[in-house]
Amino acid sequence: MSSLTALDTKNKLRGDCQNSSSNSTSDDNTSDASSDYAATDTDSAASEISYCSADDSNSNSNNTFEPGTVPDSDSKKGSRITLLGIQERSKCGYCKTPNGSRCFMIKSKQITCTDYQALIDRGWRRSGLLMYLTDHSDSCCAYYPIRTHALEHSLGASDKKLLRRWRKRFAKNKMDGGAAAVVDKKEVADEMVDMVCGLDGGGLKVVMEPAQFTEAKYRVFEKYQKAVHDEESTPKGFEWFLCATPLVPQSMNIPNPASDQQTRLLPHGLGTYHQCYYIDGKLAAVSVLDILPSCVSAVYFFYDPEFSPLSMGTYSALREMALVRELHCIVPSLQYYYLGYYIPGCNKMTYKGRWRPADLLDLLTFNWVPIEHCLRRISEHPVFCTFDTGSDTHSEVMRDTAGECVAAAAPALKITGLGGLCVDDVRRWRQLVVWLDLGYFGGRLVPMSADNLASISKSLELVVLQAYAALGVDVACRTTLVI
Ligand SMILES: [Zn+2]
Repeated sequence: MSSLTALDTKNKLRGDCQNSSSNSTSDDNTSDASSDYAATDTDSAASEISYCSADDSNSNSNNTFEPGTVPDSDSKKGSRITLLGIQERSKCGYCKTPNGSRCFMIKSKQITCTDYQALIDRGWRRSGLLMYLTDHSDSCCAYYPIRTHALEHSLGASDKKLLRRWRKRFAKNKMDGGAAAVVDKKEVADEMVDMVCGLDGGGLKVVMEPAQFTEAKYRVFEKYQKAVHDEESTPKGFEWFLCATPLVPQSMNIPNPASDQQTRLLPHGLGTYHQCYYIDGKLAAVSVLDILPSCVSAVYFFYDPEFSPLSMGTYSALREMALVRELHCIVPSLQYYYLGYYIPGCNKMTYKGRWRPADLLDLLTFNWVPIEHCLRRISEHPVFCTFDTGSDTHSEVMRDTAGECVAAAAPALKITGLGGLCVDDVRRWRQLVVWLDLGYFGGRLVPMSADNLASISKSLELVVLQAYAALGVDVACRTTLVI
Protein backbone atom coordinates (compact mmCIF):
# COMPACT_ATOMS: atom_id res chain seq x y z
CA MET A 1 0.00 0.00 0.00
CA SER A 2 2.67 2.46 0.80
CA SER A 3 6.31 2.80 0.16
CA LEU A 4 9.19 5.09 0.81
CA THR A 5 12.60 4.94 -0.71
CA ALA A 6 15.71 6.13 0.94
CA LEU A 7 18.25 5.99 -1.80
CA ASP A 8 20.14 9.04 -0.68
CA THR A 9 20.39 7.71 2.79
CA LYS A 10 21.49 4.34 1.59
CA ASN A 11 24.27 5.85 -0.45
CA LYS A 12 25.39 7.86 2.48
CA LEU A 13 25.26 4.85 4.74
CA ARG A 14 27.27 2.80 2.34
CA GLY A 15 29.95 5.41 2.36
CA ASP A 16 29.88 5.83 6.09
CA CYS A 17 29.95 2.26 7.13
CA GLN A 18 32.53 0.27 5.34
CA ASN A 19 33.92 -0.82 8.67
CA SER A 20 30.84 -2.43 10.12
CA SER A 21 31.56 -5.65 11.89
CA SER A 22 30.99 -9.20 10.79
CA ASN A 23 31.54 -12.41 12.64
CA SER A 24 29.68 -15.66 13.14
CA THR A 25 26.86 -17.62 14.98
CA SER A 26 24.66 -20.68 14.62
CA ASP A 27 21.33 -22.29 14.86
CA ASP A 28 19.96 -24.44 17.50
CA ASN A 29 19.65 -28.14 17.99
CA THR A 30 16.98 -27.65 20.57
CA SER A 31 14.98 -24.76 19.31
CA ASP A 32 11.48 -25.88 19.81
CA ALA A 33 10.89 -22.46 18.66
CA SER A 34 8.27 -20.30 17.59
CA SER A 35 5.40 -21.90 15.76
CA ASP A 36 3.23 -19.41 17.58
CA TYR A 37 5.05 -16.32 16.47
CA ALA A 38 2.85 -13.95 14.60
CA ALA A 39 4.19 -13.45 11.15
CA THR A 40 3.22 -11.33 8.25
CA ASP A 41 3.52 -12.69 4.80
CA THR A 42 5.00 -10.32 2.37
CA ASP A 43 6.08 -10.09 -1.16
CA SER A 44 6.98 -6.63 -2.18
CA ALA A 45 9.57 -5.83 -4.72
CA ALA A 46 12.46 -3.46 -4.57
CA SER A 47 16.12 -3.24 -5.20
CA GLU A 48 16.41 -0.14 -3.08
CA ILE A 49 15.55 0.11 0.55
CA SER A 50 11.81 0.47 0.73
CA TYR A 51 9.14 0.48 3.36
CA CYS A 52 5.96 -1.20 2.36
CA SER A 53 2.87 -2.33 4.12
CA ALA A 54 3.00 -5.93 5.17
CA ASP A 55 0.27 -7.16 2.89
CA ASP A 56 1.43 -5.36 -0.18
CA SER A 57 2.66 -7.56 -2.94
CA ASN A 58 3.34 -5.07 -5.68
CA SER A 59 4.24 -2.09 -3.57
CA ASN A 60 5.18 1.34 -4.82
CA SER A 61 1.84 2.81 -5.78
CA ASN A 62 -0.31 4.46 -3.13
CA ASN A 63 0.41 6.58 -0.12
CA THR A 64 4.02 7.25 -0.98
CA PHE A 65 5.62 9.02 1.90
CA GLU A 66 8.30 10.58 -0.20
CA PRO A 67 8.99 10.69 -3.91
CA GLY A 68 10.76 7.72 -5.29
CA THR A 69 10.14 4.51 -7.08
CA VAL A 70 10.86 0.97 -6.15
CA PRO A 71 12.07 -0.97 -9.15
CA ASP A 72 11.56 -4.68 -8.94
CA SER A 73 13.84 -5.82 -11.72
CA ASP A 74 16.40 -7.16 -9.29
CA SER A 75 14.02 -8.47 -6.71
CA LYS A 76 14.79 -12.10 -7.35
CA LYS A 77 18.47 -11.73 -6.63
CA GLY A 78 18.81 -9.90 -3.34
CA SER A 79 17.54 -10.45 0.17
CA ARG A 80 14.08 -9.26 1.14
CA ILE A 81 13.34 -8.92 4.81
CA THR A 82 10.10 -8.10 6.57
CA LEU A 83 10.57 -6.30 9.86
CA LEU A 84 8.21 -7.66 12.49
CA GLY A 85 9.75 -5.68 15.31
CA ILE A 86 9.93 -6.51 18.97
CA GLN A 87 7.55 -9.29 19.91
CA GLU A 88 5.56 -9.83 23.07
CA ARG A 89 7.35 -11.65 25.83
CA SER A 90 6.96 -15.39 25.56
CA LYS A 91 7.76 -18.61 27.37
CA CYS A 92 11.46 -19.38 27.41
CA GLY A 93 12.21 -22.54 25.44
CA TYR A 94 15.06 -23.43 27.77
CA CYS A 95 14.17 -22.68 31.40
CA LYS A 96 10.41 -22.66 30.66
CA THR A 97 9.83 -19.38 32.49
CA PRO A 98 6.48 -17.93 31.35
CA ASN A 99 7.07 -14.55 29.72
CA GLY A 100 10.75 -15.21 30.23
CA SER A 101 12.17 -13.83 27.03
CA ARG A 102 11.42 -11.69 24.07
CA CYS A 103 12.84 -11.27 20.62
CA PHE A 104 13.28 -8.89 17.79
CA MET A 105 11.77 -10.69 14.81
CA ILE A 106 12.09 -10.57 11.06
CA LYS A 107 10.73 -12.78 8.34
CA SER A 108 12.10 -13.59 4.93
CA LYS A 109 11.25 -15.81 2.01
CA GLN A 110 14.41 -14.84 0.24
CA ILE A 111 17.75 -14.17 1.82
CA THR A 112 21.17 -14.76 0.34
CA CYS A 113 23.53 -17.11 2.12
CA THR A 114 25.99 -14.25 2.46
CA ASP A 115 23.43 -12.02 4.16
CA TYR A 116 22.26 -14.77 6.47
CA GLN A 117 25.86 -15.47 7.43
CA ALA A 118 26.16 -11.81 8.39
CA LEU A 119 22.96 -12.01 10.45
CA ILE A 120 23.89 -15.08 12.43
CA ASP A 121 27.21 -13.41 13.06
CA ARG A 122 25.16 -10.79 14.93
CA GLY A 123 23.30 -13.36 17.01
CA TRP A 124 20.30 -14.07 14.76
CA ARG A 125 18.77 -17.54 14.59
CA ARG A 126 16.06 -18.88 12.39
CA SER A 127 13.03 -21.10 12.64
CA GLY A 128 11.55 -21.77 9.23
CA LEU A 129 11.19 -18.41 7.53
CA LEU A 130 11.27 -16.50 10.81
CA MET A 131 14.46 -15.11 12.22
CA TYR A 132 14.81 -13.87 15.75
CA LEU A 133 17.30 -12.13 17.95
CA THR A 134 16.77 -12.52 21.66
CA ASP A 135 16.67 -9.39 23.75
CA HIS A 136 19.57 -10.37 25.92
CA SER A 137 19.21 -7.51 28.33
CA ASP A 138 15.68 -8.47 29.25
CA SER A 139 15.41 -12.23 29.16
CA CYS A 140 15.55 -14.93 31.81
CA CYS A 141 18.51 -16.73 30.23
CA ALA A 142 21.68 -15.43 28.65
CA TYR A 143 21.89 -16.85 25.13
CA TYR A 144 25.40 -16.80 23.76
CA PRO A 145 25.92 -18.05 20.20
CA ILE A 146 28.66 -20.68 20.14
CA ARG A 147 30.88 -22.01 17.38
CA THR A 148 33.56 -24.68 17.19
CA HIS A 149 36.74 -24.36 15.15
CA ALA A 150 36.01 -27.59 13.34
CA LEU A 151 39.28 -27.60 11.40
CA GLU A 152 41.30 -27.61 14.61
CA HIS A 153 39.13 -29.93 16.66
CA SER A 154 40.60 -33.27 17.62
CA LEU A 155 38.51 -36.10 18.99
CA GLY A 156 38.43 -36.35 22.78
CA ALA A 157 38.21 -39.49 24.91
CA SER A 158 34.41 -39.47 25.10
CA ASP A 159 34.13 -38.91 21.33
CA LYS A 160 36.39 -41.89 20.69
CA LYS A 161 34.40 -44.01 23.11
CA LEU A 162 31.21 -43.17 21.24
CA LEU A 163 32.81 -43.99 17.90
CA ARG A 164 33.99 -47.35 19.24
CA ARG A 165 30.39 -48.10 20.16
CA TRP A 166 29.24 -47.15 16.68
CA ARG A 167 31.99 -49.14 15.05
CA LYS A 168 30.96 -52.19 17.04
CA ARG A 169 27.33 -51.68 16.02
CA PHE A 170 28.13 -51.48 12.32
CA ALA A 171 31.29 -53.59 12.01
CA LYS A 172 29.54 -56.94 11.73
CA ASN A 173 27.38 -55.97 8.79
CA LYS A 174 30.35 -54.35 7.13
CA MET A 175 32.41 -57.50 7.40
CA ASP A 176 29.43 -59.39 6.06
CA GLY A 177 29.60 -57.33 2.91
CA GLY A 178 27.29 -54.40 3.65
CA ALA A 179 26.94 -51.42 1.36
CA ALA A 180 30.14 -49.83 0.16
CA ALA A 181 31.42 -46.92 2.21
CA VAL A 182 30.14 -43.58 0.99
CA VAL A 183 33.35 -41.82 1.90
CA ASP A 184 36.08 -42.03 -0.67
CA LYS A 185 39.25 -42.15 1.40
CA LYS A 186 41.35 -40.87 -1.46
CA GLU A 187 39.40 -37.61 -1.27
CA VAL A 188 39.55 -37.24 2.50
CA ALA A 189 43.03 -37.84 3.92
CA ASP A 190 41.85 -36.57 7.30
CA GLU A 191 42.02 -38.86 10.29
CA MET A 192 39.12 -37.23 12.11
CA VAL A 193 36.90 -37.40 9.03
CA ASP A 194 37.99 -40.95 8.43
CA MET A 195 37.15 -42.03 11.99
CA VAL A 196 33.72 -40.37 11.95
CA CYS A 197 32.62 -40.96 8.37
CA GLY A 198 34.48 -44.21 7.83
CA LEU A 199 31.63 -45.98 9.62
CA ASP A 200 29.49 -45.56 6.52
CA GLY A 201 28.54 -48.80 4.89
CA GLY A 202 27.70 -51.87 6.88
CA GLY A 203 24.19 -50.65 7.55
CA LEU A 204 24.91 -46.93 8.02
CA LYS A 205 24.35 -44.48 5.21
CA VAL A 206 24.42 -40.69 5.56
CA VAL A 207 23.09 -38.60 2.69
CA MET A 208 22.72 -34.87 2.01
CA GLU A 209 19.17 -34.42 0.73
CA PRO A 210 17.09 -31.38 -0.22
CA ALA A 211 15.24 -29.76 2.70
CA GLN A 212 11.93 -31.09 1.51
CA PHE A 213 8.99 -32.76 3.16
CA THR A 214 8.69 -36.54 2.93
CA GLU A 215 6.36 -38.86 4.79
CA ALA A 216 9.33 -40.80 6.17
CA LYS A 217 10.92 -37.67 7.66
CA TYR A 218 7.64 -36.56 9.14
CA ARG A 219 7.02 -39.92 10.78
CA VAL A 220 10.42 -39.77 12.50
CA PHE A 221 9.81 -36.18 13.56
CA GLU A 222 6.40 -37.04 14.97
CA LYS A 223 7.84 -39.89 17.06
CA TYR A 224 10.69 -37.72 18.26
CA GLN A 225 8.49 -34.83 19.34
CA LYS A 226 6.18 -37.12 21.22
CA ALA A 227 8.90 -39.13 22.97
CA VAL A 228 11.39 -36.36 23.69
CA HIS A 229 9.26 -33.22 24.06
CA ASP A 230 5.83 -34.74 24.73
CA GLU A 231 4.42 -32.61 21.95
CA GLU A 232 1.98 -33.38 19.17
CA SER A 233 2.95 -32.64 15.58
CA THR A 234 1.26 -31.91 12.29
CA PRO A 235 2.69 -32.34 8.79
CA LYS A 236 2.11 -28.65 8.15
CA GLY A 237 3.91 -27.64 11.33
CA PHE A 238 6.83 -29.87 10.42
CA GLU A 239 7.03 -28.41 6.96
CA TRP A 240 6.81 -24.88 8.31
CA PHE A 241 9.42 -25.46 10.99
CA LEU A 242 12.07 -27.64 9.35
CA CYS A 243 11.53 -27.67 5.58
CA ALA A 244 10.78 -24.03 4.79
CA THR A 245 13.93 -21.98 4.39
CA PRO A 246 14.57 -18.42 3.29
CA LEU A 247 18.05 -19.29 2.02
CA VAL A 248 18.54 -18.82 -1.70
CA PRO A 249 20.80 -21.63 -2.93
CA GLN A 250 24.14 -20.17 -3.89
CA SER A 251 26.34 -21.92 -6.37
CA MET A 252 30.04 -21.75 -5.78
CA ASN A 253 32.72 -20.73 -8.20
CA ILE A 254 34.69 -23.88 -7.89
CA PRO A 255 37.38 -24.82 -10.37
CA ASN A 256 36.24 -28.39 -10.60
CA PRO A 257 32.49 -28.26 -10.10
CA ALA A 258 31.95 -31.84 -11.14
CA SER A 259 34.01 -33.41 -8.36
CA ASP A 260 32.42 -36.39 -6.70
CA GLN A 261 32.89 -34.84 -3.30
CA GLN A 262 30.98 -31.73 -4.25
CA THR A 263 28.20 -33.74 -5.81
CA ARG A 264 27.95 -35.78 -2.65
CA LEU A 265 28.25 -32.98 -0.08
CA LEU A 266 26.99 -29.85 -1.77
CA PRO A 267 24.75 -30.90 -4.64
CA HIS A 268 22.85 -27.59 -4.78
CA GLY A 269 25.58 -25.23 -3.60
CA LEU A 270 25.28 -23.33 -0.34
CA GLY A 271 21.85 -23.38 1.29
CA THR A 272 19.66 -25.55 3.52
CA TYR A 273 19.88 -29.35 3.53
CA HIS A 274 18.56 -32.34 5.39
CA GLN A 275 21.43 -34.63 6.28
CA CYS A 276 19.65 -37.96 6.57
CA TYR A 277 20.91 -40.96 8.54
CA TYR A 278 19.76 -44.38 7.36
CA ILE A 279 20.38 -47.41 9.52
CA ASP A 280 19.77 -50.80 7.94
CA GLY A 281 17.86 -49.05 5.20
CA LYS A 282 15.53 -47.22 7.58
CA LEU A 283 15.51 -43.46 8.12
CA ALA A 284 16.87 -43.05 11.65
CA ALA A 285 17.59 -39.33 11.99
CA VAL A 286 17.60 -36.00 10.18
CA SER A 287 19.83 -33.01 10.77
CA VAL A 288 18.61 -29.72 9.36
CA LEU A 289 21.68 -27.78 8.29
CA ASP A 290 22.36 -24.38 6.80
CA ILE A 291 25.54 -24.49 4.74
CA LEU A 292 26.86 -20.93 4.62
CA PRO A 293 30.01 -19.23 3.34
CA SER A 294 31.86 -19.57 6.67
CA CYS A 295 30.10 -22.35 8.51
CA VAL A 296 27.82 -25.30 8.81
CA SER A 297 25.00 -24.11 11.05
CA ALA A 298 22.97 -26.72 12.93
CA VAL A 299 19.30 -25.75 12.81
CA TYR A 300 17.65 -28.80 14.37
CA PHE A 301 18.24 -32.50 14.84
CA PHE A 302 15.64 -35.20 15.37
CA TYR A 303 15.86 -38.97 15.45
CA ASP A 304 13.77 -42.07 15.84
CA PRO A 305 13.72 -42.80 19.60
CA GLU A 306 14.30 -46.44 18.74
CA PHE A 307 17.93 -45.47 18.10
CA SER A 308 18.52 -43.39 21.22
CA PRO A 309 20.98 -45.95 22.70
CA LEU A 310 23.37 -44.91 19.93
CA SER A 311 23.55 -41.27 21.21
CA MET A 312 22.50 -40.04 17.81
CA GLY A 313 22.76 -36.35 18.75
CA THR A 314 26.40 -36.60 19.76
CA TYR A 315 27.33 -38.60 16.70
CA SER A 316 25.58 -36.07 14.48
CA ALA A 317 27.63 -33.24 16.03
CA LEU A 318 30.86 -35.12 15.24
CA ARG A 319 29.54 -35.85 11.79
CA GLU A 320 28.82 -32.17 11.19
CA MET A 321 32.29 -31.16 12.32
CA ALA A 322 33.67 -33.71 9.88
CA LEU A 323 31.38 -32.20 7.24
CA VAL A 324 32.95 -28.78 7.83
CA ARG A 325 36.37 -30.31 7.23
CA GLU A 326 35.24 -31.95 4.03
CA LEU A 327 33.46 -28.84 2.78
CA HIS A 328 36.50 -26.72 3.56
CA CYS A 329 38.25 -28.52 0.71
CA ILE A 330 35.51 -27.28 -1.62
CA VAL A 331 34.79 -23.89 -0.05
CA PRO A 332 37.98 -22.66 1.65
CA SER A 333 36.20 -19.93 3.65
CA LEU A 334 34.03 -22.53 5.36
CA GLN A 335 35.69 -23.53 8.62
CA TYR A 336 33.31 -23.29 11.59
CA TYR A 337 30.55 -25.38 13.08
CA TYR A 338 27.78 -23.33 14.68
CA LEU A 339 25.84 -25.12 17.39
CA GLY A 340 23.27 -22.49 18.29
CA TYR A 341 23.08 -20.96 21.73
CA TYR A 342 25.24 -21.79 24.68
CA ILE A 343 23.22 -21.07 27.81
CA PRO A 344 25.16 -21.05 31.06
CA GLY A 345 23.40 -23.07 33.72
CA CYS A 346 21.20 -24.92 31.24
CA ASN A 347 22.44 -28.51 31.20
CA LYS A 348 20.75 -29.21 27.90
CA MET A 349 22.88 -26.51 26.26
CA THR A 350 26.23 -26.53 28.02
CA TYR A 351 27.31 -29.77 26.33
CA LYS A 352 27.98 -27.61 23.29
CA GLY A 353 31.03 -26.18 25.01
CA ARG A 354 32.81 -29.53 25.18
CA TRP A 355 34.22 -29.41 21.67
CA ARG A 356 37.24 -27.11 21.52
CA PRO A 357 38.55 -24.78 20.33
CA ALA A 358 35.29 -22.88 20.63
CA ASP A 359 34.17 -19.26 20.81
CA LEU A 360 31.16 -17.42 22.17
CA LEU A 361 29.84 -14.34 20.42
CA ASP A 362 30.00 -11.06 22.29
CA LEU A 363 26.63 -9.56 21.44
CA LEU A 364 27.70 -6.02 22.05
CA THR A 365 30.91 -5.98 20.08
CA PHE A 366 30.10 -8.85 17.67
CA ASN A 367 33.51 -10.31 18.29
CA TRP A 368 34.00 -14.04 18.72
CA VAL A 369 35.86 -14.64 21.97
CA PRO A 370 37.56 -17.88 23.13
CA ILE A 371 35.17 -19.72 25.41
CA GLU A 372 37.70 -20.08 28.22
CA HIS A 373 37.80 -16.31 28.60
CA CYS A 374 34.01 -16.06 28.33
CA LEU A 375 33.38 -18.66 31.02
CA ARG A 376 35.55 -16.73 33.43
CA ARG A 377 33.54 -13.59 32.71
CA ILE A 378 30.25 -15.44 33.00
CA SER A 379 31.22 -16.90 36.37
CA GLU A 380 31.78 -13.36 37.62
CA HIS A 381 28.62 -11.96 35.98
CA PRO A 382 25.83 -14.55 35.92
CA VAL A 383 23.49 -12.25 34.01
CA PHE A 384 24.18 -11.28 30.44
CA CYS A 385 27.60 -9.76 30.01
CA THR A 386 29.99 -8.55 27.41
CA PHE A 387 33.33 -10.29 27.14
CA ASP A 388 35.03 -7.00 26.55
CA THR A 389 37.18 -6.56 29.59
CA GLY A 390 37.05 -2.81 29.16
CA SER A 391 33.63 -2.84 30.84
CA ASP A 392 32.62 -4.83 33.86
CA THR A 393 29.00 -5.56 33.09
CA HIS A 394 26.40 -5.32 30.41
CA SER A 395 24.57 -2.54 32.22
CA GLU A 396 27.72 -0.47 32.47
CA VAL A 397 28.17 -0.72 28.74
CA MET A 398 24.56 0.23 28.19
CA ARG A 399 24.70 3.17 30.56
CA ASP A 400 27.71 4.53 28.78
CA THR A 401 26.38 4.16 25.29
CA ALA A 402 22.64 4.79 25.56
CA GLY A 403 23.26 8.44 26.15
CA GLU A 404 25.55 8.60 23.15
CA CYS A 405 22.88 7.00 20.99
CA VAL A 406 20.28 9.50 22.05
CA ALA A 407 22.63 12.35 21.42
CA ALA A 408 23.57 11.00 18.01
CA ALA A 409 20.08 10.20 16.81
CA ALA A 410 18.19 13.14 18.20
CA PRO A 411 19.33 15.63 15.54
CA ALA A 412 18.22 13.19 12.82
CA LEU A 413 14.71 13.22 14.21
CA LYS A 414 14.45 16.92 13.56
CA ILE A 415 15.53 16.60 9.97
CA THR A 416 12.97 16.07 7.25
CA GLY A 417 14.06 12.97 5.48
CA LEU A 418 16.83 10.72 6.49
CA GLY A 419 19.90 12.35 5.07
CA GLY A 420 21.19 13.41 8.45
CA LEU A 421 21.46 9.98 9.87
CA CYS A 422 24.90 8.88 10.93
CA VAL A 423 24.93 5.15 11.12
CA ASP A 424 28.29 4.93 12.76
CA ASP A 425 26.52 6.06 15.88
CA VAL A 426 24.01 3.25 15.86
CA ARG A 427 25.97 0.30 14.69
CA ARG A 428 25.19 -1.74 17.71
CA TRP A 429 21.54 -2.60 17.61
CA ARG A 430 21.37 -3.63 21.24
CA GLN A 431 22.08 -0.14 22.35
CA LEU A 432 19.42 1.30 20.15
CA VAL A 433 16.71 -1.17 21.06
CA VAL A 434 17.35 -0.66 24.73
CA TRP A 435 17.24 3.03 24.12
CA LEU A 436 13.87 2.75 22.39
CA ASP A 437 12.54 0.60 25.17
CA LEU A 438 13.35 3.23 27.68
CA GLY A 439 10.25 4.98 26.46
CA TYR A 440 11.69 7.99 24.75
CA PHE A 441 9.15 7.54 22.01
CA GLY A 442 6.27 6.15 23.97
CA GLY A 443 5.67 3.02 21.94
CA ARG A 444 4.94 4.85 18.70
CA LEU A 445 7.31 2.54 16.95
CA VAL A 446 6.28 -0.85 18.24
CA PRO A 447 4.55 -2.83 16.93
CA MET A 448 5.18 -1.92 13.35
CA SER A 449 2.24 -2.64 11.09
CA ALA A 450 0.45 -1.23 8.10
CA ASP A 451 -2.31 0.14 10.31
CA ASN A 452 -0.15 2.33 12.41
CA LEU A 453 2.42 3.19 9.79
CA ALA A 454 0.77 6.48 8.89
CA SER A 455 0.55 7.55 12.48
CA ILE A 456 4.18 6.86 13.10
CA SER A 457 5.55 8.63 10.09
CA LYS A 458 7.56 10.82 12.40
CA SER A 459 9.10 7.67 13.75
CA LEU A 460 10.14 6.28 10.42
CA GLU A 461 13.58 7.49 11.14
CA LEU A 462 13.51 5.26 14.15
CA VAL A 463 12.33 2.34 12.09
CA VAL A 464 15.28 2.93 9.86
CA LEU A 465 17.60 3.23 12.80
CA GLN A 466 16.24 0.09 14.30
CA ALA A 467 16.56 -1.83 11.06
CA TYR A 468 20.10 -0.72 10.46
CA ALA A 469 21.08 -1.47 14.00
CA ALA A 470 19.36 -4.87 14.07
CA LEU A 471 20.57 -6.14 10.73
CA GLY A 472 23.88 -4.41 10.54
CA VAL A 473 24.62 -1.74 8.03
CA ASP A 474 25.98 -3.98 5.30
CA VAL A 475 22.93 -6.24 5.20
CA ALA A 476 20.47 -3.37 5.57
CA CYS A 477 22.03 -1.48 2.69
CA ARG A 478 21.72 -4.30 0.20
CA THR A 479 18.35 -5.62 1.35
CA THR A 480 14.76 -4.83 0.60
CA LEU A 481 13.28 -4.00 3.98
CA VAL A 482 9.56 -4.27 4.47
CA ILE A 483 7.31 -3.19 7.28
ZN1 LIG B 1 15.03 -18.90 30.23
